[in-house]
Amino acid sequence: MSQYQAPLAEMRFVLYELAGLDQVAQLPGYEEATPDVATAILEEAAKFATNVLDPLNVVGDREGSRRQDDGTVRTPTGFKDAYRQFCENGWNGLTKHPEFGGQGLPLLLGSAVEEMWHSSNVAFNLCAMLTQGAIESIELPGSDALKRKFLPNMVAGTWAGTMNLTEAQAGSDLAAVRTKAVPQGDGTYKVFGNKIFITYGDHDYTENIIHLVLARTPDAPEGVKGISLFVVPKVLVNDDGSLGARNDVQCVSLEHKLGIHASPTAVLAFGDNGGATGYLVGEENRGLEYMFIMMNLARFSVGMEGVGIAERAYQRAAAYAKERVQGRAVGLEKGAPTGPIIEHPDIRRMLMTMRASAEATRAVAYVTAAAMDNALRHPDAEAKKRHQAFVDFMIPIVKGWSTETAQKVASLGVQVHGGMGFVEETGAAQYYRDSRIMTIYEGTTGIQANDFIGRKTARDGGAVARVVAGEMEKVAKELAGHADANLKAIGARLGEGVAAARAAAAWLVPAFGAQPRVAHAVAVPYLELWGIVAGGWQLGRGALIAAKHLREGTGDARFLTAKIHTARFYGDSMLPQAAGLARTVTEGSDAALALAAEQF
Ligand SMILES: Cc1cc2nc3c(=O)[nH]c(=O)nc-3n(C[C@H](O)[C@H](O)[C@H](O)COP(=O)(O)OP(=O)(O)OC[C@H]3O[C@@H](n4cnc5c(N)ncnc54)[C@H](O)[C@@H]3O)c2cc1C
Repeated sequence: MSQYQAPLAEMRFVLYELAGLDQVAQLPGYEEATPDVATAILEEAAKFATNVLDPLNVVGDREGSRRQDDGTVRTPTGFKDAYRQFCENGWNGLTKHPEFGGQGLPLLLGSAVEEMWHSSNVAFNLCAMLTQGAIESIELPGSDALKRKFLPNMVAGTWAGTMNLTEAQAGSDLAAVRTKAVPQGDGTYKVFGNKIFITYGDHDYTENIIHLVLARTPDAPEGVKGISLFVVPKVLVNDDGSLGARNDVQCVSLEHKLGIHASPTAVLAFGDNGGATGYLVGEENRGLEYMFIMMNLARFSVGMEGVGIAERAYQRAAAYAKERVQGRAVGLEKGAPTGPIIEHPDIRRMLMTMRASAEATRAVAYVTAAAMDNALRHPDAEAKKRHQAFVDFMIPIVKGWSTETAQKVASLGVQVHGGMGFVEETGAAQYYRDSRIMTIYEGTTGIQANDFIGRKTARDGGAVARVVAGEMEKVAKELAGHADANLKAIGARLGEGVAAARAAAAWLVPAFGAQPRVAHAVAVPYLELWGIVAGGWQLGRGALIAAKHLREGTGDARFLTAKIHTARFYGDSMLPQAAGLARTVTEGSDAALALAAEQF
């Protein structure tokens, strides 16, 4: 059996050496994130993930959340208690503003902690994750009264939050939202409509649930310009903060799903009995704009789900490969006994792919988190802008590429287990099933790729893409000029990868305007190409730093050497995909679009 162990040495390496936690901790407001505090937080989180959340993961998968006959929702055995401990330990408010009871720690540090929750029990953490999204949606545009009324309890976790965007006819296209919000003349609104697929739309963790709901007022313009954002609590909150009457929102049903069974995915009916009382957030008709403010963080978090699942699937597969005895590995001396499957070169290939993918997606995500912190807190306006441009460019990569990669990793995890991977008792299959949603919710990979080619590449004529490519080239050059053969080889591959990314961007910018359907048909390969090269960039940086430590005799030599070998493997076997993807992009014809719809 495999028990989740947070990869603390690796996390520290990425946090400090690649993402610069020391620098982030010097930003105004983050001074409390000293090395001692960070260490204590990482170690405590690791214990909670291993001892409390990881053992519940399989329980949640088997039992699932259930809607009872009386309309209430019961979460799996042990989850409610785990949530209570989670909140009591302060995990819910780790990165939230101290004004509302949070600890105000950097997102970068929060990302490593979040990875642990996703690795050990992604379905459990969705409640906290959606609550973070709801908090952000109130915190930025909400009035002081709204913030005072709802945020302290949400930050403490006493009340959970949800995000209600999706309706049956409005998924990727939120312009089609039909839920109505009718002003009552007293500052409140009555909300009517049905939302589907609402994560933790109802549950038994908390006494109240604060729904953030997209809806239209009666005179709102058509399309996305007519959508407003409302707070609709499950239980109304009196002016003195006490709980009042039950609001007119009901959980009508829960979905039966492929994975994340512990997370109740609800159909919510608003206003079946006269209208659900709602409070406007910010101004009317600016709801989608407000959603976009929190979108970066929400998409980043789903990317972190990918990192977490990749790490956990890798750990489980590695443990199994060391135990399972089958066959005699090729190349061992004659007469050697049969041994564990980890000796087979193909198993090594799979484990290295899993390991390198987890490390690459983690490094890219943490570096992006550090830029988010800088974009938020850097005292220099120009630096703030530069970091924000980088964040905007990277978010679709973190969301789209990390989650697509996680699914491949989880699939390899099943493969390493052989037949035992396909049966449920090893747990490998659960990661495969749980990860499948990650490329769908919070904007499908197709939607991320549309964003990446449009707003993130074509809109500025490829300017930010070229800046990022320039940074990557610097690392490739340093690697290629290194005396060490491994680093030299990584540098050569990274150099080719960056050239491929540049060529793809140079093709895309004019194509986006001139042949938009062809450009959109290659959007996902374009996103994947940048993801793979970004992963090589960060692993390459890691290899350079590891080589320096080895030269200077600082750090754990075994760990550092493994970093270099993992980066070399990534360079040899994953970076070459970039050139192929560049061809897919730049030589993309309209063959994908040539058949008439009825020919399918
Ligand atoms: C388990 C689960 C939890 C969820 N949690 C929440 C939640 O808490 N709150 C919430 O509001 N929603 C939630 N959702 C909804 C989720 O965000 C949507 O399912 C998702 O946005 C896709 O919308 P859709 O299902 O309508 O698919 P569709 O939009 O119908 O998409 C179907 C296919 O068409 C593609 N497509 C659509 N438009 C385009 C386009 N313009 N360009 C290219 N391809 C396109 C998509 O990529 C996809 O492959 C959840 C869904 C699930 C399954």
